Amino acid sequence: MFAIFLLVMVMTLGAQWYLRSTFGTWSKRANTAGITGAEVAQAILRRHGLDGDVSIEATKGQLSDHYDPMKRVVRLSEPIHGQRSVASMAVAAHEVGHALQHANAYAPLQWRSALLPVANIGSQIGPWLAIIGLSIGLSGMLQVGIVLFGAAVLFQLVTLPIEFDASNRALAQLQDMGLVTSGDSGGIRHVLNAAALTYVAAAAGSVLYLLYFIMASRR
Ligand SMILES: [Zn+2]
Repeated sequence: MFAIFLLVMVMTLGAQWYLRSTFGTWSKRANTAGITGAEVAQAILRRHGLDGDVSIEATKGQLSDHYDPMKRVVRLSEPIHGQRSVASMAVAAHEVGHALQHANAYAPLQWRSALLPVANIGSQIGPWLAIIGLSIGLSGMLQVGIVLFGAAVLFQLVTLPIEFDASNRALAQLQDMGLVTSGDSGGIRHVLNAAALTYVAAAAGSVLYLLYFIMASRR
C-alpha cells in the first residue's frame, strides 16, 4: 500500500510539475495573432452562434480555468483571460471546447454529469471504508468501499475522453479560424498535452488504488 502511495504521489506531482513548466514556457511567448484568451474564447463562441448563451468571466487563481455547465460560463484565470500568449490561446480554446461539447449534447459529458453525485460521495468515503474494512477485517465494509470508490474511478475515466475531445476541438477551431500559425501550433499542442497528462496521472493513480483494494478483498 505504501509503495502504491509513493508511486501515485510521484506520478501526480511529476505531471503537475510538467504542466507548470510547460505552461510557464508558453505563457511567456506571445501568440502570432496577438489576441487574448478572452478574445479567442469570444471568437469561437461567436462562430458557433453561442456568444449570446455562453458568457466569459475572469476568475482568480492560477490554472483555475473551467467551464461551468450549470451557469453556462467559461471562467478563465486572469493571466489566461488577459494575456496574448500561446498558452492563453490554448487554454481558452480548450475551455470553450467544453462549452461546444455541452451545446452539442456530447454523450460522455452527460454520462459524467449522471455519475457526479455518487462519484462525489465515492471519492470522499469510499477509500476510507475500504482501508478501515481492510484493517479491521470487515470484508462487507471493504466491498462497499470498493463499489463507492469504483464509481469515483469511473468518473475519472469518463473524464479522459472529454478532456481529449475538448483539446481536439480547440485545435480544430483555432486552425479553421486561421488563428494559429505553424510557429504557435507546437506550443499549443504542448500545453494541451501537458494538461491532459495531469488527468491521465490522476486516473491511473486511482485505478492502482482500486486494483489494490480488489486484490486485498480476494485474499
Ligand atoms: Zn478540460
